[in-house]
Amino acid sequence: MSRYIATRAIRGAHALVTEAELMLQKALAEKGPETPVAFPNTAYYLPVIYGMTGIPVEKLGQLEPVLQHARALLHPLPSEKRWTPYLGETLDCGMATLLAAEAIEAIRFVYGLQPEPMPGFRLAGGTAFTSPDNGAGGESLDGHLNGPIDDIQLRTWGIQLVDGRMPGFAAIIGAAKSNEVAVKIVRELQQRNILCFLAGNVNGRSIIHQLIEEGVELGYDTYTVPFGTDTISAIYALGFAVRSALTFGGLKGGQAREILLYNKDRVFAFVLALGEVDDLKYAAAAGAINFGFPVIADTVIPEILPTGVTTYEHVVSMPFNEIEGKDDLERAERLVQKCIEVRGVKIKVTKVPVPVPYGSAFEGEVVRRADMRIEFGGKYSRAFEYLYMAPLNEVVDGRVEVVGPGFEEVPEQGHMDLGIVVKVAGRGMQEDFEPVLERQIHYFINGASGVQHIGQRDIAWIRISKAAAEKGFNLEHLGKILHARFHADFGAIVDKVEVTIFTDPDRIEEWLREARKAYDRRNKRLADLTDESVNEFYSCTLCQSFAPNHVCVISPQRLGLCGAYNWLDCKASYNINPTGPNQPIKLGTCIDPVKGYWTGINEYARIASHGTVEEVAMYSIMENPMTACGCFECIVMLIPEANGVMVVSREDSSMTPAGMTFSTLAGMVGGGIQTPGVMGVGKYYLLSPKFISADGGFKRVVWMSSILKETMAEELHAVATREGDPELISRIADERYAVTVEELLAWLEEHDHPALAMPPIF
Ligand code: SF4
Ligand code: ZN
Repeated sequence: MSRYIATRAIRGAHALVTEAELMLQKALAEKGPETPVAFPNTAYYLPVIYGMTGIPVEKLGQLEPVLQHARALLHPLPSEKRWTPYLGETLDCGMATLLAAEAIEAIRFVYGLQPEPMPGFRLAGGTAFTSPDNGAGGESLDGHLNGPIDDIQLRTWGIQLVDGRMPGFAAIIGAAKSNEVAVKIVRELQQRNILCFLAGNVNGRSIIHQLIEEGVELGYDTYTVPFGTDTISAIYALGFAVRSALTFGGLKGGQAREILLYNKDRVFAFVLALGEVDDLKYAAAAGAINFGFPVIADTVIPEILPTGVTTYEHVVSMPFNEIEGKDDLERAERLVQKCIEVRGVKIKVTKVPVPVPYGSAFEGEVVRRADMRIEFGGKYSRAFEYLYMAPLNEVVDGRVEVVGPGFEEVPEQGHMDLGIVVKVAGRGMQEDFEPVLERQIHYFINGASGVQHIGQRDIAWIRISKAAAEKGFNLEHLGKILHARFHADFGAIVDKVEVTIFTDPDRIEEWLREARKAYDRRNKRLADLTDESVNEFYSCTLCQSFAPNHVCVISPQRLGLCGAYNWLDCKASYNINPTGPNQPIKLGTCIDPVKGYWTGINEYARIASHGTVEEVAMYSIMENPMTACGCFECIVMLIPEANGVMVVSREDSSMTPAGMTFSTLAGMVGGGIQTPGVMGVGKYYLLSPKFISADGGFKRVVWMSSILKETMAEELHAVATREGDPELISRIADERYAVTVEELLAWLEEHDHPALAMPPIF
C-alpha cells in the first residue's frame, strides 16, 4: 500500500469532513434542524448515507449523527516512521469522505445551489417520443447541470444494465488534456454504451466545460450525465451505485457490506481521473474503491495492486503523454481500453460500417430541425419499413440496393418518401419472428450518431443530421447498419439479410401495399394469440442478474413488466438462445382459469424464485400476484376506499392518492417479493382483457397518471368500448384532479365511476 496515497487520501478526508461539519453548523444556525433536506425524485433519501448507515435523512438535524459517524471513521495521518499505511484505514477515510460529500451536496440543495447553474446550457432529456421540434423537451432544466440522477432514470437504465446493452458506468473526474481528447474519450465510451458520469475540474476547468464547448449533447438520452464541476458532485455516481443495489438487489438501507459487494460483483464501474489529482480526489477515489470501482489516472501517481477489494488493480497510473499512439486521439482510445480492462467490463461491440460513431448511447439523440439535412416521414413525407422472411435461395446476403434517387439533390432541411424493405432467411427463422425483428429496425438505425428514428411500420420517421451527411452518411448506410446488426444480434435465427431502400415513388406505392397487407395479417395474428390458444407461456429471468429471485411469467396476453418483452419476443429469444433467460413453461393442468393458476407455472415459479414464491396467479392483484424486479413501467395499487386500483406511470413524479409518489411506491413493489394489492406491470398489459380479470378487470381502474391517458388515448378508448362504457376513461381520475383519497372519492362520485357499484374487491 502506498504511503503517499494513504497520506493524501486521509488528509483529504479530514479536510472534507471538517468542511461538512462547518457547513452543517452554519446551516443549522440559519435554517434550523427541522429544515427538510432531499435530493429530487428519489425514494432513497440521501442514498449513500442511507445505504451505508441506514439513516433515512429527511431533515438537516439528522445530518449530525451522520457526520459524527464520518468523523469516527477517520484515522490519523500515517507517521513518517514505523507505521505501515494500511489499506483498511485509507478505505475508512474514503467512506468518511463520501458521507461528508453527500451531506455537503444535501446542504447545497437546501440553499438552492444544486443542481449547479450553467448559463446557456441545456440538458438533452425527455423520451424518444418527444417531438424533436420542441428541442430536448422533457424535464430538462435550462441553465443547470444535471445533479443527482432520479429514480425514474435509474429504473429506465436498469433494464439496459441487466440485459447487457449497457455494460457499466465511468465516473470521469477532472479535465482532459484538450477539448479534442475530452470528446474522443466520451465518444469511445459512448460507442461501447458505457454511461459517462462527469464531474470535477482541474484548476477550474472541467471536462463538462470542454464537452459543452465542443457542442456535445449531454444528458440522459446520450448516456452522458454532467453532475457538477467540482469533485464533490462525483458523489452522485456512488448514489446511483447504492440505489442499483437497493432497487434491483432487494437490499435495505444499512446493509453496507452487502451493498458494496453487490456493486463489486454486478456493477461494472470505474473512475477515470483526468489531470492532476489533489487530496480530495485521492480521498474520493478511496471511497470509490470501497465499491470495488478501480481508479485509472492519466497522470503519474503510485499504483495500488490487487488485494481483493476490486477485481483487479485498485489504482492504475497511465500518464497520458507516455501512452503509445500516433496522436492524442489514439492515446485517448488506449486510455479508454485500459479502463475497460482494469474493471473487466464485458463489452459486445458490433462493428457497423458507417462513417459516424455507432452505439446504443446514440439511440436517444435528437436531431433538431435546424441541424437536419433531410427527413423521411413525419409531417411532410412518408416512410415505412417492412421485414419479411423468404426461402434461403431467394436472399442475397449483404446486398444493399437503393432504388431511386439519393438525397443529394434534395435541398437542405428537405424531405422525401422512403421505404425500407428487409428480406431475411434462415433455418431457424419463423414467420412469427418477422414483427420481432422488424421492431429492431428502430433501435438499429437510431444507434448511428446524427441519425434519429421514431415510430415503426408505415409511420416511421427518420432524420439525418447535417453533421452525419457531411461525414458521408447516405441511404445505403441504412442498409449496411441493418445487415450488420441483424447478423450480430440475431445470427442464430437469421443467416441472410438483404436490404432494399426505395425512394422511387412507384416502387414505394407497390411495396407499401405489400407491407400493409402484412401489417394487417400480423394484427390479426396478435389478436388471435390469446392465453387459451397456446400450450406454453415463457419465463424471463433476465432481471435475476440484479433481482435474484424475480421471474416474469409472460403469456400472449400479459407482457413482461418492463414492457420490453412480449410472448413473441420470448419465443424468438428462446430460439436464438435455447439456454438463455426466456424458457418455455409448459402450462400443465389448469387449477383455476379465473385467477390464472396452472401447475406448470407454480412449479416453475417455485424453482426459479429459489423458493420465495410458491404460487402465482396470472390474473389477480389480490392473491399471489406476480413479483417485480424494479424496471416496471407502471405500478398498480389497490385503493381500498375506492373499491378499485390506481395505475401510476414511471414518468409521473407527482403525488398519488396512496399518499406516495411513484418512487416511494416502487420501493414497496420491487425485489422479487409478492405483495398482495401492489404490482409492477408493463403499460400494455392495461389494455389486455386479462388485466386483473379475476378482480374485475379494467373497470377497477379509478385513477391513472395523465401521461398514460394521453400517450395511449386511442388504445384506452378501445378498451373502454370493449368494457361496454365508451366514456370510462373520462370517469377515471388523475393527478390533476385527485391526489388524496378524499379528492378521489369525490371525483368518482361526481363522475359515476363503475367501481363504486362493483362487488367489494376483497
Ligand atoms: Fe426483467 Fe421481466 Fe423485463 Fe425480463 S420481462 S427483462 S425479467 S422485467
Ligand atoms: Zn427488471
